Formats: sequence, structure tokens, C-alpha cells
Amino acid sequence: MAQATKKSGDERVPVAVLGATGAVGQRFVSLLDGHPWFRVTALAASERSAGKPYAEAVNWFIDRPMPGWARDMKVVPCRAGLDARIAFSGLDASVAGTVEEEFARAGHAVVSNSRNHRMQADVPLLVAEINADHLELIAAQKKRLGGKGYIVTNPNCSTVGLVMAAAPIHRAFGIERIVVATLQAVSGAGYPGVPSLDILDNVIPYIGGEEDKMQSETQKILGRPGAPAPFPVSAHCHRVHVSDGHTVAISIKTERPATPEQAVGALRGFRPAIAGLGLPSLPEHPIVVRDEPDRPQPRFDRMAGDGMVVSVGRVRPCPVLGLKMVALVHNTIRGAAGVAILNAELLKARGYL
Ligand code: NAP
Repeated sequence: MAQATKKSGDERVPVAVLGATGAVGQRFVSLLDGHPWFRVTALAASERSAGKPYAEAVNWFIDRPMPGWARDMKVVPCRAGLDARIAFSGLDASVAGTVEEEFARAGHAVVSNSRNHRMQADVPLLVAEINADHLELIAAQKKRLGGKGYIVTNPNCSTVGLVMAAAPIHRAFGIERIVVATLQAVSGAGYPGVPSLDILDNVIPYIGGEEDKMQSETQKILGRPGAPAPFPVSAHCHRVHVSDGHTVAISIKTERPATPEQAVGALRGFRPAIAGLGLPSLPEHPIVVRDEPDRPQPRFDRMAGDGMVVSVGRVRPCPVLGLKMVALVHNTIRGAAGVAILNAELLKARGYL
């Protein structure tokens, strides 16, 4: 479906993608193809790409064909003032801080994947199904920025997997502490990412800044607006030889006793508060619990619900903390562009656009 040109009667919201040539940016372009509420009016990236047709500027490496309307769109520099109500950002963190703030000050609703503004007190760190109430922070932020614009962020990709599995447990039993270990796909490092000679036949037990992000972002999301959850989270993060899909092994100590059967009941019974809003990207069951002893696996489960479902399995007793399980999240869909688009749909449904 053509996106860039507004056809008469097309009431869809005009949106720009910042960092459109990157790993997350490509996912935005793919997921926004034919979106019923949003139409892409600008693809923006660095000066290296600006001026080139998108098909020439991008190294398209995802598993769906590039949408026809995107091929010839000329990539523009990331300067505020584009014809777009929403600016989706998949910008490199080295530039996202200033560029996103410029766009917000110019009146755009910035929906960002980057880490730069996530922990700011008046910026929602949002996973639509879990903490939609954090949107109330936008009012104070708009006042600070002085206009109609604002920034909403989504968490780091592995954090999305953790909080999706932990939120139903937290609601049902309360959480006292979490220990989590990740096995993260190479696409999480962007393009070109980790050199092949470093990652082939290997596991790298260090991803700069990732453990701190998982710890603090989980507390912000599972807390109330302005009051992070008080429980400690300890994360071990590893890069592994998988293309897409982060595996997240989680042990939880709950405040009230929870058997594995009760935990599975809480996960299967999870119904997000936003379920009745008709959001196009919201899966009917955002969490699926697998019963097989050897699932979830990245190759088989990352595309569950077109990449928007988090698969949880191996829910079992933990002799140290009480409960343990494994979650799998598609890092560039549910963990990045997909969750950002879902968050933007929530902004529209709640009248923030
Ligand atoms: P990436 O593949 O390296 O893409 C970075 C994008 O930023 C490219 O479009 C690049 O444009 C653009 N860019 C770089 N320098 C720029 C500049 N000076 N001015 C304007 N644009 C510039 O990175 P990624 O993996 O997509 O990640 C993007 C953001 O999302 C990061 O902040 C990352 O931490 C976050 N994130 C990533 C994932 C994931 O799974 N990959 C998940 C969640 C969050 P050029 O092509 O023109 O250089």
C-alpha cells in the first residue's frame, strides 16, 4: 500500500522513521507497511544516507521484502519540522538524545527505542500492556518542553521479555527479587553489529550497559509513575550466535507463595487493561505459555504472533528463589519497533496525538 502520498480520504496519521536504515529502522518500515492508522511520510538517517533513495541507502537484511513504496523514497536528514505527527526513533544512542529532544520541542510525538531518555522522571518507559498508566507523565513533560511535543520510550529489548513474563507474576503474588540471565541475538547489536569472527562458535559474556539497563528499566516499568518498584533485579547478559530472538532465563522470589501451576495460571490469565481499545498491533494473547520441556526456542518461537507474542516455558520450582522460567522475545519486533508501534497506537487511542 502506498504510504508517502496522501490519497484523498486517507486519514491515517503521518509518521516519520528516524534511523530508518538501521536494524530497528528497517523493522519500523516493514511493520508500518499497510498500517491501518499510520502512514510513513519521511525516512530519515545520517548525512551518510541523506539524499539517497532508501533502497540504496539501506542494507536490507530482514526476512520480509522491502515495501515497494519505501524503495524510492529519498532519505532525509534527521531535522525536526518534517511533515509527521509521530517520529518513531531507531537512532543510534550517540545522537538520539539531542535529535529526539529537538523533535519533541518542535511539536512531534517522539516514540523512541533508544536508551537516552528512558530513565528521565517525566518520560514514560512504556510497554503498553503493562504500564499504560505511566502516560500520565506526559503532561509534566510537555510543560517542561513548552509545547505539544513529548517523548515516550520503550525499554531495552531483553527487558521487554523480562517484564512481560514478570508483570503477571508481580500482579498476582508480588515480587521480592529477580535474578535473570540472557542469551541475546546478534541483531540486538544493530548493523553490522558484532564481527563474525567474534561471535561464530562463541558466547560473549558482556554487552556494554545492558545489565544496568535491565535492572533499572524493570523497576521503572513495574513500579508506579514516579515510584520505581523497590525489588532488586540482578542481570547477566550474554551475546550468542543467534540471528533474532533473545532468550531470558528468569528466577523470581515472590512476596506471597506461588507454585509453578499458579504462576502458569497467572501468565495464561493475563489480560492487559488496554485489551478493549482495538489496537491493531496488540495480540489477543501477548503471552503464550509453552508446555513442552524444550521450548521456547528462538528458531521456532520468535515469530509467534508475527513477532509480538512473548513465549514463556519451563515454569518450574527454583530451589534458591522459588520460581523459575524461560521467556523468548523477538528483539527487533516485540523488543523494539513492534512495541514502539503498539505504544503509538495507545497514544492515538488515548487522545495524545
Ligand atoms: P543501527 O543498526 O546501528 O542503526 C542506527 C541508525 O541510526 C541508522 O539508521 C543510522 O543511519 C542512524 N544514525 C547513526 N548516526 C547518525 C547521525 N549522526 N545522525 C542521524 N542518524 C544517525 O542500530 P539499531 O540496532 O537499529 O538500534 C537503534 C536504536 O535502538 C539504538 O539506540 C539501540 O540501542 C536501540 N534498540 C535496538 C534493538 C535491537 O534489537 N537492535 C532493540 C531495542 C532497542 P545511517 O545508516 O545513515 O548511518
